[in-house]
Amino acid sequence: MTTAIVWFRQDLRLQDNPALEAALQSDQLVIPIYIVEPEKRDWPVGAASKWWLHHSLSALQQSLRHRGSDLLVFAGNAERVLMQLCRSTAARHVFWNRCYEPDAIERDSNIKNSLLEIAVNVYSFNGSLLAEPWNTLKKDGTPYRVFTPFWKAIQQNGITLFCFTPPKHFPAISDKLKNSNTIKITELNLLPSNRWDMGLTETWQPGEMSARKYIHNFLDATIMQYPDGRDIPGISGTSRLSPYLHFGEISPWEIWRSIQVWSTTHTDSGAIKAAECYLRQLGWRDFAYQLLYYFPHTDTQPLDTRFTAFPWKSRYKKELQRWQQGMTGIPIVDAGMRELWYSGWMHNRVRMIVASLLSKNLLIPWQQGAQWFWDTLVDADLANNTMGWQWTAGCGADAAPFFRIFNPVRQGERFDPDGRYVRRWVPELQALPDKWIHQPWEAPQQVLEQAEVVLGKTYPEPMVDLAQSRQRALAIWNDLKSS
Ligand SMILES: Cc1cc2nc3c(=O)[nH]c(=O)nc-3n(C[C@H](O)[C@H](O)[C@H](O)COP(=O)(O)OP(=O)(O)OC[C@H]3O[C@@H](n4cnc5c(N)ncnc54)[C@H](O)[C@@H]3O)c2cc1C
Repeated sequence: MTTAIVWFRQDLRLQDNPALEAALQSDQLVIPIYIVEPEKRDWPVGAASKWWLHHSLSALQQSLRHRGSDLLVFAGNAERVLMQLCRSTAARHVFWNRCYEPDAIERDSNIKNSLLEIAVNVYSFNGSLLAEPWNTLKKDGTPYRVFTPFWKAIQQNGITLFCFTPPKHFPAISDKLKNSNTIKITELNLLPSNRWDMGLTETWQPGEMSARKYIHNFLDATIMQYPDGRDIPGISGTSRLSPYLHFGEISPWEIWRSIQVWSTTHTDSGAIKAAECYLRQLGWRDFAYQLLYYFPHTDTQPLDTRFTAFPWKSRYKKELQRWQQGMTGIPIVDAGMRELWYSGWMHNRVRMIVASLLSKNLLIPWQQGAQWFWDTLVDADLANNTMGWQWTAGCGADAAPFFRIFNPVRQGERFDPDGRYVRRWVPELQALPDKWIHQPWEAPQQVLEQAEVVLGKTYPEPMVDLAQSRQRALAIWNDLKSS
């Protein structure tokens, strides 16, 4: 029996795991490993993601132990760990699922070369996308920059729904191997030392089993309302699968199959629309990965090069802090930022609203917002986050022109008409009538008094004049366009 290593990365699951399946099929002793690398990557794992990773690794380790195997965890430079492990175990094969972030691609290709030099073969797979970036190009061989034709092309090309159910028993791992330079998950110090993570613990249960529950609950209770409900932050109108997808605890193929099964018993036009609408959102994820793959500089640089000369503010520390802390004085923005801080997640509609305020009304570089999201989101994902920020700031792909500036008051009135979302996250406005909940600064004094709101004391005055700052942004945009 030969030895093979399966290197888990952003695929922390057993079901539908192509690298794992290939390793298990090849009649080998399979060693599942995870490597925590020193934080010198371009985007070191953010604080909320670390929390998730801790629990996700624990869940994967438990599943492997139930099957007679284990997850061996190492800390250190990935190349050195792998080279050493291949030598000490005489492993001749390493399996992994591909990552698509620019620095991960570079790392992996270096590691592949080094392993080949010591006669170790590397086998890599698509473990996370409906279609890999290079499989969906335009006729002229260039990548798409607009979503709808990209999505059409993916569907026309056909999506292969990879399926693998892991066996009940895996090859056992010797105690000697388990103890060789491995590290306990608890020793990785992924959990914060001052326990700010109560909200995360209350909100989430990471791991493959939990991901499956989420998709089932979504299909049972939510999907029918998804086409409209997905825009309402005050209800549970979306699947909340984003962190599970990011960490690879569920494959997009399993989600797709679940929806196909659901569709066999839900055949009316409303159900068809809902299923299509949801799958289309999954398509946005693939689109983001294509953009980052072909435009790898866009995690920090605008895709639309006209924005390189955009006169962002250069001094904004205090304003940025107010935005981060949910103290802007604009209720729906503050609700979103507080939801993020507490739960590590924010509703998509609200992500757009807070990002628009930061980049357009406050003229703070969008990269600052992307960085904060990176640190605080449990679903922080370089491709999705980059696309989301560039799109909202108006310098990215697809049709989101700069001059379309979200008005947070109108957005609140439209998508949170009864103020449920704002009241949940901004309790100091609890007693304000619906009419004023999205713009307390316009409320008559008597109404404020009755609701026990003292602007500037119990809740901040708005930190920016929305109309004036909109005009300022548009003027800058007009200058930029004509220069
Ligand atoms: C400024 C900004 C930053 C963002 N940062 C991230 C991020 O770091 N990580 C992240 O996963 N998403 C990000 N998004 C996209 C989107 O907000 C989340 O994917 C979505 O809110 C996750 O909730 P859900 O799983 O309930 O989504 P659902 O509506 O249930 O959608 C299902 C899945 O489709 C994918 N998806 C849905 N909408 C989008 C979208 N607009 N772009 C890309 N994929 C999408 C996600 O994987 C999601 O889990 C960002 C959006 C914006 C505007």
